[in-house]
Amino acid sequence: MRSLNFDQHFKDLFDNTSDLIHFVDIDGKILKVNPAWLNTLEYKMEDIVNRSIYDFVCPAHIDHYKIYRDLVITKSGVADIEFEFIAKGGSRVIVEGQIGCVYDNEEPIYTRGVFRNITAKREAEKTLIKQQRRLSTFIANAPTAVVIIDEFQTIQEWNPKAEEIFEHKANDVLGQYLSDIIIPQQYREAHLKGMARFLNTGMGVVLNKTIEVTALHKLGHEFPISLNISSVKVDNAWLFIAFITDITTQKAMQEEIIRQQVMLLQVKNEEQKKDQFISMASHELKTPLTSLKAFVQLLGRKNSPESVLQLADKASGYVRKLEILIGDLLDVSKIKADKINYNHQNFYFRKFLQESIESVQLFTQTHTIIIENCIDVLCYGDVLRLEQVVHNLLTNAIKYSPGKDRILVRAELVGDQVVTSIEDFGIGIASEHFEELFNRFYRVDNIDMKFQGLGIGLYITREIVERHHGRLWVESKPGLGSVFSFSLPVTRESH
Ligand code: ADP
Repeated sequence: MRSLNFDQHFKDLFDNTSDLIHFVDIDGKILKVNPAWLNTLEYKMEDIVNRSIYDFVCPAHIDHYKIYRDLVITKSGVADIEFEFIAKGGSRVIVEGQIGCVYDNEEPIYTRGVFRNITAKREAEKTLIKQQRRLSTFIANAPTAVVIIDEFQTIQEWNPKAEEIFEHKANDVLGQYLSDIIIPQQYREAHLKGMARFLNTGMGVVLNKTIEVTALHKLGHEFPISLNISSVKVDNAWLFIAFITDITTQKAMQEEIIRQQVMLLQVKNEEQKKDQFISMASHELKTPLTSLKAFVQLLGRKNSPESVLQLADKASGYVRKLEILIGDLLDVSKIKADKINYNHQNFYFRKFLQESIESVQLFTQTHTIIIENCIDVLCYGDVLRLEQVVHNLLTNAIKYSPGKDRILVRAELVGDQVVTSIEDFGIGIASEHFEELFNRFYRVDNIDMKFQGLGIGLYITREIVERHHGRLWVESKPGLGSVFSFSLPVTRESH
């Protein structure tokens, strides 16, 4: 094998090294560069002929480069330097290496530079720094507490939110054992066992899922948190990142919602029981009432003595009241069970209203019911149920206007609806009751003692009106009287 002389060795090294090598005379003119220099900076040999080295150094680094070059020229030796070249395409090439000076009889002749391209390394470092900065910003501003521990469970990171919820300052807890700081006594053993198991087997029961546990506050009390722990391997060692949210308020709210729902269920349950009772009681009352009615009718036969007839007449009045009362109670349970049957038919409204009013007028001596005006239109509905509506509104008007003697009734056409208003001049109702007035068992609070009633008449009335696609409403002023109105759609002959 042919051996190479030194020049050949040198040339081989010069041509094939990946380092950038240049020789520059004392004035800065480039004497020679190696292929790696040209390739890295994207130049051709002809680009550098008679050019100064300073044409290729990044302008911001020329002074820096000059100082080092002058230093090695005047003081001999070599200098370590990092600076940037500008490549032909304009991109920066970061290099690090050495400049040295070659002397002849203590006379500096040229300088030599040998550099490594570290652009990629520096870029990677920059990206890493950027990422680290981004991560730190993220951790610092995270909406949840972020706590990072190493595999010895010492705290490495403790963000501001963690400071806020645990009230421990980062400086006081960094480097401390996690379990001493935030894990309640009763969980410490399980925590240590869990860590050990994970480090031995790679299995972690609580990892990568959100769990709810309690944590220890600086002041010594425990509070509920939601916790999500992830594990990452960095430089061959495990780090555990915990995202922690204080859920004290959320928990309290959940408990409150559950409490409310239980209460609601209890109320519903009681309502159901009440409904069942009403249904049963009214059915039970109906049977003896039917017999009672038959007996009263027997007593009221024409051949009975006058005194018996009078008593029978009174008794039948009370029987009628009882019938209405029990009928109303039955209706309430039917409405709840959606079991009211309606028998719709066409009818003329004026005749209907007049007859309904007459049947109420028959039983009242105190008030005169005056029809102020009444439109005659054809309507469609259950006449008996609609009579019940008029009956309820009129008996209320009479009941709640003691000492007065008039009830006014008007029926007018408004659009395609007939609107019937029943006006009394009685005790009136304050507007805060308007909304609840039509609810089951609602009675204006201060009337209980004076006026008898169960608070179901208006509830049934509204149900019937709405089942006829109408509306029921009230206008009233305390002490001046009330106007209850209901609307019903007018029908065309075709029904
Ligand atoms: P009840 O009359 O049996 O109590 P209603 O359901 O018919 O039950 O009426 C509910 C409540 O509305 C009554 O208790 C009363 O407070 C009020 N109310 C109804 N009609 C009138 C009226 N014309 N004037 C004053 N208050 C009335």
